[in-house]
Amino acid sequence: MKLHDLEFKPYLSEQELATAVETLSRKVEKDYTNKTPVFVGVLNGAFMFLADFMKNYNQDCEVSFTKLASYQGTSSTGEVQTLIGMQNLEGKDVVIVEDIIDTGHTLAKIIEALDNAKVKSYKIMSLFYKPEAYQYDIPIDYIGLEIPNKFIVGYGLDYDDLGRNLPEIYQLKS
Ligand code: 5GP
Ligand code: MG
Ligand code: MG
Repeated sequence: MKLHDLEFKPYLSEQELATAVETLSRKVEKDYTNKTPVFVGVLNGAFMFLADFMKNYNQDCEVSFTKLASYQGTSSTGEVQTLIGMQNLEGKDVVIVEDIIDTGHTLAKIIEALDNAKVKSYKIMSLFYKPEAYQYDIPIDYIGLEIPNKFIVGYGLDYDDLGRNLPEIYQLKS
C-alpha cells in the first residue's frame, strides 16, 4: 500500500482494533460507574477511535474535542501547537483520548492546559503507545496496544494527511 512516496504493510486488522477498543470501553465503564466522564478527543487522529469507543461505552458520558499538531511527515517536531483549545471543563471528570502517544510532547502540552482547567479529575487514554519513544513520566491510565517505535497509519492516523480513512493499521515498510 502506498501513500505519497512511502510503502506500508498491513499491521493490525479491523478485528484486532475492535477487540482493543472494546476492552478499553469495559475498563473505563468500571472506573466511571455513577459518574459522567467527558471524553476529550485530540483531533485529528483520535476521531475514529473515539467514535468506536463511545459506541461501545454503555453509560452516561459527554464528548468534546481539542486540536493540537506536532507531527510533520513521519516524525514529531517537538513544537506542539494548539489549534483548538479545550472547552470549559471545570468540575468535570475528564478522560483525554489520544490516538497514539509517541514522544509525549503533545500529552505534556495537554496536561499543562488541564492543570489550569479546574477539572474534578483527569485520566489519559491512548489507543496506541510507543514505550521506546516516550520521554516523560506522566502516567498513561488506559492503553489499547503497546507498539514498537515504527511509524503507523490508518484508523484516524495519517501520513501527511493521507490514510486516516483506512479501517485497519499499516506499518511503514523498512
Ligand atoms: P507525540 O507528541 O507523543 O510525539 O506525538 C503525538 C502525535 O503525533 C500523535 O497524536 C499523532 O498525531 C502523531 N504520531 C505519533 N506517532 C505516530 C505514528 O506512528 N503514526 C502517525 N500517523 N502519527 C503519529
Ligand atoms: Mg494525536
Ligand atoms: Mg499526523
